[in-house]
Formats: sequence, C-alpha cells, structure tokens
Amino acid sequence: MPPIRPTPVDPTDLLTAIARSAERLSQRDSWPEGVNTLLAELGQSTGISRVWIFQTVELGPTHIVQDYVFEWAASPEYAQMGMSCFSMFTKDFELPEYRALIESRRRGEHQSMMPDELPPSWLRTHLVDEQHIQSMLTIPIMVDGLWWGTLGFDDCQREYRWSKPEIALLRTASALITNAILRDQLSARDKQFEILKALTDSSAWQIDLKTARGWVTGKLAKIPGQPPAERNLNILSLCRLIHPEDVRRLVKAARQYVADGEGTFRHDVRLRHHGPRQHWVEIIGSVSSDMKGRPEQLAGIAVDIQHRKRQEIILRRMAETDPLTGAVNRRAFDDHLDFHLSKAQRKDRPLSLLMLDLDRFKAINDAWGHPTGDMVLKKFADICRTNLRDGDVLARMGGEEFALLLPGANAQAACAAGERIRCMLEATQLDSCRGLQATVSIGCATCLCGSSTGHELVADADMALYKAKRAGRNRLIAASSHVEH
Ligand code: GH3
Ligand code: MG
Ligand code: MG
Repeated sequence: MPPIRPTPVDPTDLLTAIARSAERLSQRDSWPEGVNTLLAELGQSTGISRVWIFQTVELGPTHIVQDYVFEWAASPEYAQMGMSCFSMFTKDFELPEYRALIESRRRGEHQSMMPDELPPSWLRTHLVDEQHIQSMLTIPIMVDGLWWGTLGFDDCQREYRWSKPEIALLRTASALITNAILRDQLSARDKQFEILKALTDSSAWQIDLKTARGWVTGKLAKIPGQPPAERNLNILSLCRLIHPEDVRRLVKAARQYVADGEGTFRHDVRLRHHGPRQHWVEIIGSVSSDMKGRPEQLAGIAVDIQHRKRQEIILRRMAETDPLTGAVNRRAFDDHLDFHLSKAQRKDRPLSLLMLDLDRFKAINDAWGHPTGDMVLKKFADICRTNLRDGDVLARMGGEEFALLLPGANAQAACAAGERIRCMLEATQLDSCRGLQATVSIGCATCLCGSSTGHELVADADMALYKAKRAGRNRLIAASSHVEH
C-alpha cells in the first residue's frame, strides 16, 4: 500500500518543488526530461497518487483526440501510461457534461472535482469505477492562447479539496510547462532553419517597419574585416549591405509589396561586400501586421542564387550573341541603343553609331565559297573588336552588315575609329595563299547630348552608308559632320 499523503499539502514543499523544477526546465534541452522532473517533484511534494499530462492532438467540431504523454505515479499500481485506452484515444462530445468540460478547458479554466460527488454519468463511471479516483484536479496547458493539453492530479486514496493558493501554485507549474513547450517548438524551428540554411545556403533577416531597424544573419552579415554575427542595424546600414546599383529597385519593390501586402516578396539583388565578383542572392520575405492590421515587420531569408544567376547570364548571353562572329545580335543591339541613348541624355554626352557593310560580299561568296565568306565575317568582327574601347558595342545586324555603337564618341572620334577599321580591313590579307581581300563601306551618325531618337540615329547612319556605297564603296561618310574620306 503506497504511503498516504499528509493533509494538507505543505505550501513550502510545493513552492520548493516548483522552484527546483523551474530551474531544471530553464536549462537547454529541458524537454522532455525537465517535464518528467516537474511531475515527480509535484507528485512527491503533494503526496498524491498520480500526475499526468494529456496532449490535445486533434480538436474537431464533434470529437477530440488526446494522447497520454507524461506521467508520474506514486507506485506502479497507479501507472496508466501505455494503456491502449489512453493512447491516442478519441472521444465524441455527445454527452453534455463532457462537452461542458472540454469547453471549460479550452477557456483555460481548471476543474477541481470529487468524482463521487458527480451525478451518475459516463464521467463518474470512468473516473470512479475504472480509475478509482477520489479527487481530481485538472489545469489546462495553454500555448499561444490555445489549449495544448491538460495537467492532471489524481488522488486514489482520499478526497482532497485543493485550496486556492495550491491551485495558483499548480497553475504556475502549468505555465512552466507552457514555456518548455514553446522553447521546444522554437528549437525545432531553429533546427529546421539550420537545415534549410545548410541546404539553400541562406541567411535570415528582419526589418521592423515602425522603428526602421532590423537584423541579418549568415552571408548578409559577413562584412570583410568583421566576424560574421547577427547585426542589429538601422535601415541605412541595411541598405549598405546591398550593391549600390540594386538598392533603389529593392527599396521600391519592398515598398510596393508592403503597400499591397499580398503573397510573398521576392527580389534578386547583388551583395555589396563580396569582392570583385558579383554575388547574387534572392531576398524572399513576407509582411506581418499588428493587431490593427498595420504592417509591422518584413522578415524572411536571402537565398544564395549565384549558380542560377551564372546560368541565366550564360543563357542570356547566348540569346543575345551571334554565334558566328560573337557580336551581339540585332535585338540586343536595340536594347543597348536605348540604354546608351538615355545615358547620353542624362550625362549630356555624345553618342555615335557606325553602320558597316562589307563591299560586294556576294561576289566573295560566289568566288570563294560560303565557308570562306564566313571566315571573312569572323575576321572582320575581330578587326572591329581590336578597335573597340570598353563600353563600345559591336552588333551583327544581319548578313554582312554590322553596327558599332560608340558611347561618349563625338563625330570626329567615331570617324577616326571607323577609318581605322576600314584601313585595317583593306590592308588585311584574309587568305594568305589565295590573295583574298575585302573592303567595307561605313556610315557614321552622331547625336549630340541625346538630341536624336534611336530610330533617327540608325536612319542617319544608314543613309550615310548608302551614300558611301553610291560614292564608290570602301569609304566612310559621316551624316552629321559630312566628313568624307
Ligand atoms: P554591297 O557592296 O552593295 O553591299 O554588295 P553585297 O554583295 O555585299 O550585298 P548583297 O546584299 O547583294 O549581298 C550580301 C550577301 O551576303 C548575300 C548573302 O549570301 C551573304 N551572306 C549573308 N549572310 C551570310 C553569312 O552568314 N555567311 C556568308 N558566307 N554569307 C552571307
Ligand atoms: Mg554588302
Ligand atoms: Mg548588305
């Protein structure tokens, strides 16, 4: 026969038991051992038969599924854990007294009862006849305002009425369990994030929209010369982690996303502090709102997309490049022209365009064959390239016609570059054994300080090229300055 508990409970014993358990539960990896310790301390200090925890596994509109997850028993005869009737058991709510009990637990209310005093019912039979309980106290374990499970105290030896201070202390014990559950959930999330981080090479970030402060981890937090660490930063310092050319677009997209508040935020940017090579990450996040529905936080991860970006760059380059000569194709040329025209306008700088068309190329093909014609096209592109500066764009517009975009070059500089190309081609022995030579006619147009549209610039250069052909070929004619060679 197990020892009969002294009555009433000594409050100092109970308080000491809770304090000791709190210390154990606040340690790392306290789940589940810390909970077992707490139940044992509570059981021993109160001298009752059994302390248990049921977890609410599923709460449907008409039924509940519970599992018996923790137990301390004063002696083996009181142990119930592992019995099939208590493992993952389902109970429906058709009995009004059971429904009322569940509703009350959902509200976070405790129940202190003497089952013998209950009116004849399923509950009374279940507690008195099947489990021989003389006194039962249950305290709901609430996590994030939701009923997670129940902490129960069964006395099978005597009827014991728990006092208000005792119940208050035992509610504190229930709150300790809540904290242990939250810590366990947090550490599970932490582990999930660690796995995600390792698999995707990602960092985490968060911005408080009200204080304009935030933190970053992982690659985002790595600044040369400083150890990688979680960094608490203001918004300006956060922006400084991003490549200066990408900051404006990122901020604009994030503002738009916060204003719309829909779906997931996704944006590709380069990091600033990753040496001479560009380092791409995809910023993925979502916004959370406060109680009044106002955007409060923007948080998420930054995933390394270096590999994908490299593939994208290769594919884009392939789609923009003429495979025979390596020059950009006509579609890409249009984009470069738009870009350089608006830049010329912004920076108040000239922009010149050369249109270059090989002379009597059809005759070369006819006389030497198509493969030799291809070789001439390649060599001509090489000659053009040897005369390019950084930022100049060589395009194959089709067949044997090329365009050369010269940002920052005025008519004189552009004509000089065109002349160098023309002379170099004229002087090149293309096929040393058979004496193959070729010439090129060139039209040059310049727009000063972005005064023309792209269409006008191309039309002017085309017209100058046409004039060069009419004037006898192997020459350069400039549209704007009318410099003729
Ligand atoms: P013009 O001096 O008036 O420019 O005379 P042209 O013979 O150069 O001009 P035309 O437009 O009559 O002929 C261009 C030729 O270029 C016709 C075409 O077969 C040839 N061509 C176009 N693309 C290629 C190519 O990729 N490879 C080769 N080998 N020939 C090409
Ligand atoms: Mg031609
Ligand atoms: Mg042509």
